[in-house]
Amino acid sequence: MAARLIDGKALAAQVRAQLKPAVEALAARGARPGLAAILAGDDPASHVYVRNKVRACDEIGVRSELHQFGADVSEAALLERIAGLNRDPAVHGILVQLPLPAHLDGERVLAAVSPAKDVDGFHAENLGLLTRGTPRFVACTPAGVLRMLDHAGVPLAGRHAVVIGRSSIVGKPMALLLLQRDATVTICHSKTSRLAELARQADVLVAAAGRPLMVGAVMVKPGACVIDVGTSRTADGKLSGDVDFATVRTVAGWISPVPGGVGPMTVAMLVENTVRATELSLA
Ligand code: NAD
Repeated sequence: MAARLIDGKALAAQVRAQLKPAVEALAARGARPGLAAILAGDDPASHVYVRNKVRACDEIGVRSELHQFGADVSEAALLERIAGLNRDPAVHGILVQLPLPAHLDGERVLAAVSPAKDVDGFHAENLGLLTRGTPRFVACTPAGVLRMLDHAGVPLAGRHAVVIGRSSIVGKPMALLLLQRDATVTICHSKTSRLAELARQADVLVAAAGRPLMVGAVMVKPGACVIDVGTSRTADGKLSGDVDFATVRTVAGWISPVPGGVGPMTVAMLVENTVRATELSLA
């Protein structure tokens, strides 16, 4: 039997629509949510991601502003702009689009964003709060994955979840979220031996390695839920996930596609975090 499809595009549209009344209520109180996006350099994919984020904000009345810098921007200039945005009461959320140009210290730049405006959830304070089990802003991609799992009714408590990838923006927060929901979590990475064997034990498998089609049907337990976070460009310019959708869908119980899966949910979670940041600023 073919797996049930978890349609991230449709769910993201629903999430955005559900945020509209909250945005209107905030605007009526004189606090229209505002997001500032910082984009440095000329990576074409980053430009597309930021455009999608700005568009999603506009659609539901969240004000957005784009702060664009050349690839040779100095760290001092970026930090100065971030400091100004931290002080600006009309800005409730700040995102720094990654990757930053190689000469910049990404950790230092991300650390400069006020934790109260860190709607990407990348700041050490927000990652620490998640680790402690009292999250404030959770990184948008793992938050989106969790929302997809809940929407599809995938059981988590007591189940074995395997996350492939251990980055601070996807793999680690994903594992922490699943842990918080009482799953038993295994984190796999590039040095993991017996990856296929571990993956095959998963009731929930989240692939976030950025390795096109690395998860085939032999790595999936029949009936498991498979979420594909990976987005890589293949040699012919096509977008590819980490999961071989065509074969895995014949084994899995649920599956998310690429495109149309996690990507739109990441954007929806960013908008949601911006609305929450605005609410928290009034509390
Ligand atoms: P990253 O490169 O920082 O981390 C990749 C992780 O995968 C590392 O921890 C590494 O150890 C692991 N890995 C690499 N090769 C592996 C292998 N062969 N076997 C097991 N583990 C392996 O990347 P990231 O920022 O965490 O992103 C991961 C993927 O998710 C990328 O494809 C990225 O484009 C995608 N992504 C998608 C969205 C979205 O909105 N859809 C958002 C963020 C990231």
